[in-house]
Amino acid sequence: MNIHEYQAKQVLKGFGAPVAEGVPITSADQAEAAAKQLPGPLYVVKSQIHAGGRGKGKFKELPADAKGGVRLAFSIEDVVKNAKEMLGNTLVTAQTGEAGKQVNRLYIEDGADIARELYCSLLVDRQYGRVAFVVSTEGGMDIEAVAHDTPEKIQTIVIDPATGVTEADVAAINAAYGLTGDAAEDGKSLFPALYKAFVEKDMAMLEVNPLIVMENGRLRVLDAKVSFDGNALFRHEDMRALRDETEEDAKEIEASKWDLAYVSLDGNIGCMVNGAGLAMATMDIIKLYGKEPANFCDVGGGAGKEKVAAAFKIITADPNVQGILVNIFGGIMKCDVIAEGVVAAVKEVGLKVPLVVRLEGTNAELGKKILNESGLTIQAADDLDDAAQKIVAAVG
Ligand code: ADP
Ligand code: MG
Repeated sequence: MNIHEYQAKQVLKGFGAPVAEGVPITSADQAEAAAKQLPGPLYVVKSQIHAGGRGKGKFKELPADAKGGVRLAFSIEDVVKNAKEMLGNTLVTAQTGEAGKQVNRLYIEDGADIARELYCSLLVDRQYGRVAFVVSTEGGMDIEAVAHDTPEKIQTIVIDPATGVTEADVAAINAAYGLTGDAAEDGKSLFPALYKAFVEKDMAMLEVNPLIVMENGRLRVLDAKVSFDGNALFRHEDMRALRDETEEDAKEIEASKWDLAYVSLDGNIGCMVNGAGLAMATMDIIKLYGKEPANFCDVGGGAGKEKVAAAFKIITADPNVQGILVNIFGGIMKCDVIAEGVVAAVKEVGLKVPLVVRLEGTNAELGKKILNESGLTIQAADDLDDAAQKIVAAVG
């Protein structure tokens, strides 16, 4: 689960991290009152969407030379003017995809005098099985580009869970950034605070880009992106309350209600599978034969007919889906149950695109019989290669 920047900053502030004052607003009428609560004379108007790259983003409805999704404002009137221009419009950034995201909320924030922009993130380093700080002096930029072009400018500092962030860890992070004086002093409290927030709130990722050194030599968290480990959300009611469903894929929300793993992708073949391994293999083989998956829905081990039908409906609801591949290995899952679910869903919502089904394993013959006798136009496939070739050919 992701949250907005302004929420992430509230959470981090609770752990003692230095953040700017700011006020979230949802309508331009609130802009003036919001700005009046801040010291000025520099304000920043920041689009709140669940995607990064907002500063360099472009609004679809505005001329190409209009400013992006994070704007400096030099007076209260300027804040109001920008808020009117931004709210309700669609921001397209490197992370939103072409469709962009509608900006329904702005964060009016105190402007900072920036001396340096740094990059700091925390994540679980899978190689070490520990939480690690990923730090770089190249803040405010696209970190993927830094990793690609100048990987030597990124350092990883792995934290021992038994000790937490030690003085030596802080010294290593400060040294990686070249921080001295007040900034290095601020680091002594900030880096342990970020670690504490990450661990206590079961975050999957915490990214501060940029972390800034201000002209006065102090550190400040200028941007914050947080995502939580979905498996731990049950024990964080306060974090669950920050969920903004309007930012999420409606199909993924529907899937989570059915306890289905649904992932939306960019291609045009919808995939219903059971098990993560088979999902990966199915996507690989579709790509091998020259097409891209539009999504995959993993119905898991022991789904019933209703759950299978729900999965099928979610897959067909995606307008990009031009064909569907059902690839099921019946182990615990029974192929006849899959077949019944597919038939029930098609009877309810219809079938406007080609459907290829490959069933193997428990009750596979019975499953095929149910499909054959259903009167639906379904292409049966014998194995994974055959299935992928058939759906790719059908989609054309
Ligand atoms: P994004 O990463 O989505 O583009 P950021 O919050 O990182 O959004 O903002 C982009 C840039 O805007 C920052 O790198 C910084 O230069 C500037 N900026 C953001 N917030 C402030 C602020 N409060 N004061 C001054 N500049 C800011
Ligand atoms: Mg940023």
